[in-house]
Amino acid sequence: MSRKWVYDFTEGDGKNKKLLGGKGANLCEMTQIDLNVPPGFVITTEACLAYLDDPERRLPEGVMDQVHANLAAVEKKTGRTFGGREKPLLVSVRSGSAISMPGMMDTILNLGLNSQTLLGLINGTGNNRFGYDAYRRFIQLFGKVALGVPEEKFDAEFEAVKLKAGVKHDVDLSTSDLTDICDRFLKVVQLFTHKPFPTDPYEQLEIAIKAVFNSWMGKRAIDYRREFKITPEQANGTAVNVVAMVFGNMGNDSATGVGFTRDPGTGENVMFGEYLVNAQGEDVVAGIRTPKAVAAMAQELPKQFNELMELRRKLEAHYKEVQDFEYTIEKGILYCLQTRNGKMNATALVRTSVEMVKTGLIDKRQALLRINPEMLNQLLFPRLDPKNTSKPVAKGLPASPGAATGIAVFDADRAEKLGRTGERVILVREETKPEDIHGFFASQGILTSRGGKTSHAAVVARGMGKPCVSGAEGITVDIHLKVARVGDTEFCEGDLITIDGTTGLVYLGEVPMIEAEFSPELETILSWADEVARLQVMANADTPEDSERALKYGAMGIGLCRTERMFNGVERLPIMVEMIIAETKEDRIAALGKLLPIQREDFKQIFEVMAPRPVTIRLLDPPIHEFLPTERQLVDEIKELQNLRETIRGMRVLTDAAQFMNLPEIKSKIQGFTDPELVDTVIAKKETMLKKVRALHEVNPMLGHRGVRLGLTFPEIYEMQIRAVLEATAECLKAGIEVHPEIMVPQVCTAQELKRVKEWVLEIHKSVEEAYGLALKFKFGSMLEVVRACMRADNLAEEAEFFSFGTNDLTQATFSFSREDAENKFLPMYNLSNILQDNPFEVLDVKGVGRLMEQAVKWGRQVRADMKVGICGEHGGHPASIIFCHKIGLSYVSCSGPRVPIARLAAAHAALLEKI
Ligand code: PEP
Ligand code: MG
Repeated sequence: MSRKWVYDFTEGDGKNKKLLGGKGANLCEMTQIDLNVPPGFVITTEACLAYLDDPERRLPEGVMDQVHANLAAVEKKTGRTFGGREKPLLVSVRSGSAISMPGMMDTILNLGLNSQTLLGLINGTGNNRFGYDAYRRFIQLFGKVALGVPEEKFDAEFEAVKLKAGVKHDVDLSTSDLTDICDRFLKVVQLFTHKPFPTDPYEQLEIAIKAVFNSWMGKRAIDYRREFKITPEQANGTAVNVVAMVFGNMGNDSATGVGFTRDPGTGENVMFGEYLVNAQGEDVVAGIRTPKAVAAMAQELPKQFNELMELRRKLEAHYKEVQDFEYTIEKGILYCLQTRNGKMNATALVRTSVEMVKTGLIDKRQALLRINPEMLNQLLFPRLDPKNTSKPVAKGLPASPGAATGIAVFDADRAEKLGRTGERVILVREETKPEDIHGFFASQGILTSRGGKTSHAAVVARGMGKPCVSGAEGITVDIHLKVARVGDTEFCEGDLITIDGTTGLVYLGEVPMIEAEFSPELETILSWADEVARLQVMANADTPEDSERALKYGAMGIGLCRTERMFNGVERLPIMVEMIIAETKEDRIAALGKLLPIQREDFKQIFEVMAPRPVTIRLLDPPIHEFLPTERQLVDEIKELQNLRETIRGMRVLTDAAQFMNLPEIKSKIQGFTDPELVDTVIAKKETMLKKVRALHEVNPMLGHRGVRLGLTFPEIYEMQIRAVLEATAECLKAGIEVHPEIMVPQVCTAQELKRVKEWVLEIHKSVEEAYGLALKFKFGSMLEVVRACMRADNLAEEAEFFSFGTNDLTQATFSFSREDAENKFLPMYNLSNILQDNPFEVLDVKGVGRLMEQAVKWGRQVRADMKVGICGEHGGHPASIIFCHKIGLSYVSCSGPRVPIARLAAAHAALLEKI
């Protein structure tokens, strides 16, 4: 006996999405919880993989036999016959893998129709028009999806008939128009495939099944899996769902609709969706006719509306998640065709999480885990400044909230190309189709002139959290001329536009934006996250302003204050330069004396803002030549100045000549020219600087004279910084402010380095305590960003009270990759060809860098059991990396301010997932 490849909806395991695909498993589950689902069956993903494995692409043995047997069962339940001349059974065929990949393949509807069964359908319904309408849809979908006939070929015939009949809308086509369309469509297929349209329903079904399987290896599906990093462990192969057709286009007591159990744009607890009376499913999604809001059904079909509300309640009660479902009403009977977890934007996810906990539908744990931390990014993005005075040029539907500015681009390929170059792009289309998906990835936002809130553009944009305005009917889009017209104005490809997906407004040009604000629901979620997280979340912040912002994001302290960034202000840089080019120690100390009060004041302000939270201050790290101009720049400037000197000399000759020749008007005109000696002074300064720049030149500065190595060469610099930290601490204490300063040394590779710096710290500490008459507490610690430091973590722990992994440098050091070169030259290729799965500078390389970290933590804590260990490289804000940091027992993560909320939620996930 062959393997079991096919499962009836009554027998498939609703939890086995890997085998049955998400859609198939759900159809089984829905059937088994007594929702009114049309009968049908699922062909497994295993059958798909076996089929794709066969070089000759034959269906595995037994598949079609089992399909026959299962069809017989469906025939029995529906009282119809597949291929029958009377009461014919028609089916829909759709794909469905373990992870939903929206729009990857169109559904084939009305399969089983041919000239014979068509008559049966017409006899049964007494409706000629309905019969031919079903037939033309089938030929078109089957032709496009299963036989690969370009859609435009059908569209051209369709439009030709409409033109001939003089009708605008599809619904106005007569039966004879539809008959004409069917004939034309059959000819299109014959012409394109060189074969007649297959009439045997079983042959049709077999071709359709193979088409679904093939779609798994189609470009769209591959692109999608790559973009969303869907691995074979998550989804491998697609299942095929074969379902008895029910018709929403059997008259005015029939309808079709799609719905969300809650509003996926705002999260509000109201049924959201649209429906069309007397229509088939694809009409709603394709945006061909503008559907009605579901609320209107209460008047139009009140009984079915109540049933729909009951269905909505049942779905949420069972799935404990917002559902995105499709339904059809056939002659007054409501069928549920599909349901899946609703894709929502972050606003909706957060709000529904909080509200579902309040009503007891889910618990806090589920509420936190259902939000992907990265999604919070959407809430932390800017929106249009309400004070902006720009006038919108058009209004469409607010299909996916958020605002975006970019240049208008009218096709997906071009959007992808421009997006890759870093250009901000708004994809502008009449409507979008699944094949536009790569254009979505590359765009900041999407604007369409047709389609409702459940059109393809709206659904996909919401899923991606990108702003979308759909159905902006005031705009006429001409994709061929690459121009859009709105009233008397127009915008072309390359023109900047702004869309606001929250209001549906469209603007020409760039509109100012403001920072996002936290909603009370987001505060609630994050407070729940903090309750369960073990990891603390700190921020990387270098100024009092940064610190204030970080605090708003919920930072529990500053995990990294990069002091070098404080030297870049216009009034500070010259002092820093003075310090660097100083020829003697005395001159250097004098310059540092000017920097001391500036640093002290910065630290004091940061401490005040963050009190009583800990603040980790890192001593100077980069090579000092970074504060000086480049050699090239100096050489050019000196050359210019020398030219100027010559010019001034020439002017002097001119002035003297004017005097001698008694030409006072010339003399007065050229008066006021600079003295060449002044220029000489500047040249001399520049030359000193150039000499210094040349002296400081390093072949490989990032591995050169920087960090603690620089600190040990010029002790005065670190001494000034340490003093500034401790004096700021003393001043805060004096003012009654509780502070917890931590002094951190960068680029350490041996305990001896730490020992030396620690001696200075202790000395200065003593002198500051004496000067202020106060006892000052602080912590002394080390960055771990050098491989040797990790290997010697036990020794370092003798000196350091805390460690902080600098995974930016540690990743470079572990891979021996310089980040800029790697990312510009070979990393994209490495990622594309799967040599490396991720960019290790974004996603912590747990297998290499992570392993080193894990060891270092263990060794460090062998010496100092209560060792505080954190991470302050960029990975500290990356959710998957945070989960790893939790696993290896770090005490905190530190990341940029706007990523703090994401990190807080990820830290909660780490703690919750550990318990599973
Ligand atoms: C690091 O190396 O991870 C780090 C935080 O230091 P920086 O990024 O300043 O080199
Ligand atoms: Mg570093």
